Amino acid sequence: MRRAATSMIEGDGLLRRLRGDGAPRPVVDPGLAGGLRDWLEDGLVEAVGGLPGDSETVRVNKESLSQVLLCEAHLVARRGAPRVMTVELARGSLVDALFRQWVTTGAVEDPWNDALEALAVEGDRDGVGSFVTGLPPTRRHQMMAEVAEHAAEIVARWPVLSPAWLPRTQERLEVPLCGGRVVLAGVVDLVLGRPAQDRASVCLVELKSGTRRVEHRGDLHFYALLEALRSGAPPFRIATYYSATGELDAEPVEEEMLVRTLARVLDGALRLCRLAAGAEPERTPNPLCAWCAGLRECVPGQRRAGTDVPRPVDSLAELHPETA
Ligand code: SF4
Repeated sequence: MRRAATSMIEGDGLLRRLRGDGAPRPVVDPGLAGGLRDWLEDGLVEAVGGLPGDSETVRVNKESLSQVLLCEAHLVARRGAPRVMTVELARGSLVDALFRQWVTTGAVEDPWNDALEALAVEGDRDGVGSFVTGLPPTRRHQMMAEVAEHAAEIVARWPVLSPAWLPRTQERLEVPLCGGRVVLAGVVDLVLGRPAQDRASVCLVELKSGTRRVEHRGDLHFYALLEALRSGAPPFRIATYYSATGELDAEPVEEEMLVRTLARVLDGALRLCRLAAGAEPERTPNPLCAWCAGLRECVPGQRRAGTDVPRPVDSLAELHPETA
């Protein structure tokens, strides 16, 4: 397994890392995507057969996958709990909006207001606007300064992308399996390149405004699998860009990585099907029990956490936003 190469780069250097530096792109194996799909569908067919006829589609996305693999009971508890907005999540949404604006228009005039307006236009489903309006003035001003710093990093390091690279922001990837009873789904921050028949040509980029974490690789590997299943050709490169520091983790997409990811996705999808069929969720105590929404009702988790009172989610969200 190759490790992602990390560096702080900008301008043409950043684009070379994302688009390749002239080396020939990998030849697409025409049977690979079909083989991966068959593997998934064969592995799911029995579990899907156990779903009630009127059950909802089982959706497998990066959050449900990481939560159900962490602890099934944690996933169930999270589903029943209200979504908690935090400073870190709000900042991430604002910086994401600015990145989209920069990539599509090449201009950021007023980072704070531009970001809030962009979210409002998109519907602001998570209520970021009202959350930041309700912050104490000192915290809000601190956040405005942070968002401006992230915007300055993006503008300084990202050149305006050529339309020839077909940059797409918030690209939706959806792969229905088993007649649509299970759907693998994701939204990628930035996709470059046209899906190809003969040589891999797509690069997937995720923007992170928080701390660099190894789990981010798993999210990108999931998206690489989705792109391979959707288009029939895997991406040739995947990358995470950290807007706080300018670091870029980039790695090639190899068959071994797709197969490893498929095993993880199949494990998670089977668990999600089992829960959708009404099975009792398994409890798997883990280091995040202390922040779990289900801690009060979970004896094994209380033993692990040493308490029955969950810690505030915003003390965890910076580290583990998908599982919080
Ligand atoms: S407290 Fe721990 S073991 Fe219990 S449901 Fe939450 S994550 Fe699972």
